[in-house]
Amino acid sequence: MIIILKPNPDQTELASLESWLRGLDLDIHMSQGQTSTIMGIVGDTTVVDIGQVRMFDIVDDVKRVQEPYKKANRKFHPKDTVIPLGAGSVGGDSFTLIAGPCSVESEDQILEIARDVKAAGAQALRGGAYKPRTSPYAFQGMREAGIALLLEAREQTGLPIVTELMDAADLPAFTDIDVIQVGARNMQNFALLKELGKVDRPILLKRGLAATIEELLMSAEYIMAHGNEQVILCERGIRTFEVATRNTLDLSAIPVLKELTHLPIIVDPSHATGVARYVRPLSLAALAAGADGLIVEVHNDPAHAKCDGAQSITPAAFAELSDAIAEMLPIVHKNAIPPR
Ligand code: PEP
Ligand code: MN
Repeated sequence: MIIILKPNPDQTELASLESWLRGLDLDIHMSQGQTSTIMGIVGDTTVVDIGQVRMFDIVDDVKRVQEPYKKANRKFHPKDTVIPLGAGSVGGDSFTLIAGPCSVESEDQILEIARDVKAAGAQALRGGAYKPRTSPYAFQGMREAGIALLLEAREQTGLPIVTELMDAADLPAFTDIDVIQVGARNMQNFALLKELGKVDRPILLKRGLAATIEELLMSAEYIMAHGNEQVILCERGIRTFEVATRNTLDLSAIPVLKELTHLPIIVDPSHATGVARYVRPLSLAALAAGADGLIVEVHNDPAHAKCDGAQSITPAAFAELSDAIAEMLPIVHKNAIPPR
């Protein structure tokens, strides 16, 4: 961290800034230029609140030279993190397909979709039992009964389950869930993230609607700093001025994240676009951009889905997408997905 001081800084305030920084276990290297003084701060500067540095009147500017996250940082962990999932894994050389409906609606619905996506090459089944809905009057999910149906679908197909937790109080219902999803709206629910740091299962962390890449990584850092290093990041589109799609898929986030972090990054083309026919082109684009996998909404009757039907593709369309991905994989140097 570099702190640039205003010319002729007040010596008492400088002494107080120095003693505060030393109290945080940091070393200070002063360099005196002709017009300004620069303080080089060495040590674990993640503990420093930049806003607090700026509160000193003598400070002209502050710059971080090191990212504020450590555990998620590729600099300190150059190798890709690979997270076991069912018979396979997420990250590294694999490309993981997670598919299923937005919400679990009934036994027939989830079992049929589970069988279909498994046959089409999915490695995990998604399905919401606890749903974050914009309207309190919309379908809120089947809750515990939905979790039971997901576990039945796993029993029948062998597919590991990915499902969203909104409230740490519901964690007891998630004991047998393979991957716990944190939805976009909860990305900065720090109390929830801390609780998930104590869980010994992978967490699928979705990027907030208006979150920067650094904020996403800081949320991952919360989970990791509290003890759980199995975090899968998910780019699911962000809010922009564009209204032609539900959100704007930030494809650039994929290579940026690959550079900044060792954690796997998967893409959700369904929530990113909100339109079923845009799911395939953006899925292929995500693969080309270096994503480690996709989470795709698939419904056997999209027109009658209780949630997100417009962005749900059919099992047949998912099977075609899976084939297209298998064809593209050798070009992007990922291992082929398991044969159908
Ligand atoms: C979902 O996965 O169904 C969901 C609600 O996603 P997001 O949190 O990205 O909106
Ligand atoms: Mn959805």
